[in-house]
Amino acid sequence: MSSSAITRSFRASYGDARALFLERCVDAGARVASHAHPLPGPDGAALFLDEARFGPDDARRVLFVASGTHGVEGYCGSGIQSFLLADGLASRLPADVALVLVHAVNPWGFAWTRRVNEDNVDLNRNFLDHDAPHPDNPDYDRLYDVLNLQSLDPDAIARGMAELKRFEDAHGWAAMYRALSGGQYRHPRGVQFGGTAPTWSNRTLRALWQRHAGAAEVAAFVDLHSGLGPRAMGMLLQTAPEGSTADVLARACWPDVIRAEPAQGTDAALVSGLIGPAFVAALPHAAATGLVLEFGTREIAEVLQAVQADHWLDAHGVRDSEQGRAIARRMRDAFFLDDTDWQEAVCLRAREVVDRALAGVQAHATATEGR
Ligand SMILES: [Zn+2]
Repeated sequence: MSSSAITRSFRASYGDARALFLERCVDAGARVASHAHPLPGPDGAALFLDEARFGPDDARRVLFVASGTHGVEGYCGSGIQSFLLADGLASRLPADVALVLVHAVNPWGFAWTRRVNEDNVDLNRNFLDHDAPHPDNPDYDRLYDVLNLQSLDPDAIARGMAELKRFEDAHGWAAMYRALSGGQYRHPRGVQFGGTAPTWSNRTLRALWQRHAGAAEVAAFVDLHSGLGPRAMGMLLQTAPEGSTADVLARACWPDVIRAEPAQGTDAALVSGLIGPAFVAALPHAAATGLVLEFGTREIAEVLQAVQADHWLDAHGVRDSEQGRAIARRMRDAFFLDDTDWQEAVCLRAREVVDRALAGVQAHATATEGR
């Protein structure tokens, strides 16, 4: 596929991205279902989480590829999905394997160019047991004022960054990462809020998993993200316990998968409420694995500051203003690059990951075989 065909897969708004995705789904013979979100987008238009299924109805093996869990990251993820469709993905499914593309897990965040959802929730911190006590993040509590800016004054930002640096020097990278990105359940208006109940997207996604994979024997969930890691590199990240079925299946699909320590108890080493482990837990009768495919965009400080500005705008600014529009542009630019070489690298890496997933999901031996 030519590079112009790749760049044509990326669109500049949620509405345009969705229209292209649906058009290519129809061309590829998908069965599509659309779930209306309770709230509209900035232009007043309705928002949807769309699911598109390809392959046999009774397939025993199912691969999910999702976009837009972190709203604004849908600019990248939706483009990848549309590229994969134009590239003929649906016509090269192995026997007994179904593919489900989930478009805009967080359509509200995608349309509003935000990472969080309508409840200020980071969806990838929301998939935990809300009836149990929520994990603590005491370092976040301590750093609250640094992580949640009261002002976008450059001096205030610089002071905040210096304080984060001091914290990292004193307590190490892991403590810093946890404070910054581990999720928190105590400050509903703060960044990195994981919510105190399952969100609309959480409930919609869980129902969708059961519909498509409730009876599956092998299932994989690849969630497309952007904004972390080296530019254009697509890192595969999982947290499944070493040697678990999820870990074994992931390694069989992708030799280069990176495994982070899973969160445990209230003293979680990394993060809690992730979608991947929730997917595995939701399908106890299947060999299942859930991962993030993360594409790097810009320097971490640039991305972090865009998110902080967006959060400041929500708390203190006016979205429908010149400043508000500039911050929204900055958010899009932090999670998506308008460069042809980046888009090409991202699409080709995604194709490699998805093709490996299809082969791995088909090849995985299940307990019922050979009986
Ligand atoms: Zn993300």
